[in-house]
Amino acid sequence: METILITGGCGYIGSHTALHFLKYTDKKIIIIDNLSSGFLENFNYLDKKYPNRLILEKIDLSDLVALEALFKKQKFDALLHFAAALSVEESMHMPLWYYQNNTINTTNIFKLCLKYGVEKFIFSSTAAVYGEPKNLDNGITEDTNLMPINPYGASKMMSERILIDGLMDIQNKIGLKLGILRYFNVAGASMDNQNLTKNDGLGQRSKNATHLIKVALECATKKREKMAIFGTNYPTKDGTCIRDYIHIDDLASAHLCVYDYLDSIENREFEIFNVGYGCGHSVKEVIENIKLITKKDFCVELKPPRLGDPAKLIGNVEKIFKKTKWKPKFNDLETIIKSAYEWECYLS
Ligand code: UDP
Repeated sequence: METILITGGCGYIGSHTALHFLKYTDKKIIIIDNLSSGFLENFNYLDKKYPNRLILEKIDLSDLVALEALFKKQKFDALLHFAAALSVEESMHMPLWYYQNNTINTTNIFKLCLKYGVEKFIFSSTAAVYGEPKNLDNGITEDTNLMPINPYGASKMMSERILIDGLMDIQNKIGLKLGILRYFNVAGASMDNQNLTKNDGLGQRSKNATHLIKVALECATKKREKMAIFGTNYPTKDGTCIRDYIHIDDLASAHLCVYDYLDSIENREFEIFNVGYGCGHSVKEVIENIKLITKKDFCVELKPPRLGDPAKLIGNVEKIFKKTKWKPKFNDLETIIKSAYEWECYLS
């Protein structure tokens, strides 16, 4: 039986992906999380649903001694690396923290993977690596130039480069295979949630939410009084930013498809995939849909643009469809919002 290591497995994307692997494979999972932005509740939910299949190691990725001790103790077949800081705006104020926490920590854990013969490495990257690409009729492809406009995107771009170059390292004796997933905007909650009762479900928890759908739903459920639209003069149809929103379960399933793809290839050591639906919604459109679906009104102020925000990010996702068996099931803004709303009501 294979054992996989998931960093950041108590966070939003990490925990939903762990659930997907627990449900559809027999792999054993070790989660590393320092619980700085991850939640013990997420681990407890997974552990209760799939007893004796996963272990939590509360380790900070900067603690190289503790990390190496773990690699010495246990052989890992694959690493799924989610642990990272992820706010565009925060990264504008704390760039060095983003390079330290995202890029340097990624380099360190990758070196351990090479040293201890891990065969597959799946890296959580982001559409923010593209920056603000112009005049793209078919959306952003994986070959689009990388020109990040914020330290968050730059920290992930540099991590990607280090991982790809690292494949040539003398330590890479077993030919580690690398999958890089560039996520577009993820939202929603697990479609496995049923009759949400206390501590019995999975969705987005947040100590200080900044993501659009989460923030708007916190308003709809009266956790916040109001929200803002950041920027109304962007060169888009209604002046607000456009993003490609993807349901969390579809993003989670993309990881298993890429995992299987890496198992199936012989000659290529790495592959990069955009993961989104290839269609965009504006900030105004998302907020209007949330008000309609939840039947709740709330105050929305118009504010100047947020630092570091590109006007439009829509992925071209042909490659992941062509090369892997990925079949998204919840490709619809209403499903995303409804699942996130049920979860947000439960958190109330
Ligand atoms: N946004 C907004 N108000 C909010 C949160 C986000 O207007 O309270 C906008 C933000 O400026 C961006 C879009 O919504 O244009 C998506 O932002 P989010 O933080 O969800 O994801 P990002 O694309 O920055 O990773």
